[in-house]
Amino acid sequence: MGRLKLIGSNLVTATLVCALTSAFWINAYGGESTQHAKVEPAPEAAEKQASAATAKQEVALAPSGLAVPVAGITVDQLTDTYKQSRGGGSRVHDAIDIMADHGTPVVAAAPGRLEKLFYSKGGGGITAYVRSDDGKWLYYYAHLQDYAPGLKEGQAIKRGDPIGRVGVTGNSNPDGPHLHFAINRMADGEKWHQGRPVNPYPLLAGKNGR
Ligand SMILES: [Zn+2]
Repeated sequence: MGRLKLIGSNLVTATLVCALTSAFWINAYGGESTQHAKVEPAPEAAEKQASAATAKQEVALAPSGLAVPVAGITVDQLTDTYKQSRGGGSRVHDAIDIMADHGTPVVAAAPGRLEKLFYSKGGGGITAYVRSDDGKWLYYYAHLQDYAPGLKEGQAIKRGDPIGRVGVTGNSNPDGPHLHFAINRMADGEKWHQGRPVNPYPLLAGKNGR
């Protein structure tokens, strides 16, 4: 229950912002609900899924219908890092970094199927790739501390389902834990490591970045 106490202040803040902005929320594990009503997971789901502490985390829902993929983070807390240079300026980021405490639950921004669990020591570290059911979009979650219990390739994913926890694996600053989140547009037949990046920021924040 220690974790629950740790996140308590975050939750209070998040709920307050929610009330002020009339943002919509979904429960991290309980499927969708309107406003910030909390839905307790069914008993059997609760057994299968993480701890009671993480099950109470709230997830913000963006105007696009995507969930902010880090529990407790509001759309207003996001920054547009999509065009930042990486690797000494030789390439651009093509993703956004969502800063959060180490161990914060990472949840699915959108539904689909878990296509690939991949470890890249010098890149994304512990990563997960979820493809939309129509095959056209790929959602990428990187630098995870670990995966959600029982997560496996091929499983169906609902928006808000647990993916893992925020960490610093791969090419990530150990002092700045964050979720590296990318969205790729996929052509027919393209594999999980292909596709063309789309900026997640406007889709999550409901406005253009800087
Ligand atoms: Zn990043």
